Amino acid sequence: MNKEVLFGPAGLGPTKSAIATLEAFHAQGLRACELAFTHGAYIKSETDARTIQKRAAELGIELSIHAPYYVNLNSDDPVKRAATKQRILECCKVGEWLGAKVVVFHPGYYREGVDRIQAYTVVKEGIIDIMKELKKNKWVIQIAPETMGKINVFGSIDEISRLAQETGCAVCIDFAHILARDKKVDYALILKAFPQEEWHVHFSGIVYGEKGEKHHIKTGVKEWKALLAHLPRDKKIRIINESPDMVADAVVGMKLWGKL
Ligand SMILES: [Zn+2]
Repeated sequence: MNKEVLFGPAGLGPTKSAIATLEAFHAQGLRACELAFTHGAYIKSETDARTIQKRAAELGIELSIHAPYYVNLNSDDPVKRAATKQRILECCKVGEWLGAKVVVFHPGYYREGVDRIQAYTVVKEGIIDIMKELKKNKWVIQIAPETMGKINVFGSIDEISRLAQETGCAVCIDFAHILARDKKVDYALILKAFPQEEWHVHFSGIVYGEKGEKHHIKTGVKEWKALLAHLPRDKKIRIINESPDMVADAVVGMKLWGKL
């Protein structure tokens, strides 16, 4: 059974042009879009959000959200950990209005002198707290910690896989980050680590060194082909392109997928 693979960019742009932008994505065949709340949840009005939700649903475009970059569930400061949860929950509130499927976030940093097992425990507690709030509010949106590209940042395949298994949270599998962190992409291992029926995926070209990710670059056709060839065929998958040319690259990926 070949399930759906949806392609789209990591940005919708300003609220006032959101409907026109969604229509332009639709005209190109794109069916996913991640809103970049990376500097904060910039959509403030519920009316605006619900208008965008309605049009995206009509166009068959699935929305997701990227939470602010400055969150850290593993901060040594409890005030900062609480603020992180609040920021992610704010994204969830607006995401619920938007009908978005997931809020993707970078879980946090490892702490000097604190081992990785302890870091895992703190991040897991934070995720459980956020999920309790989602339940309390009866929100259906899910939170999705992301596999991270730098070796000194929380978010290995193993850590994200365990978080999902032990808390029931969703995941964001960033294949470019995995390559930068592990220097290889072990598709069989990833498939085993993430048995979920639905995958939320990030992808782009990437420049990396010993310590992992340096920056994202345009997605090569060769890289696209390698990813698409290895995608499981029995899952629903959203692939968000994060390259500097994300709309064009998402269209290239979508067309290559259509030829497989
Ligand atoms: Zn990210």
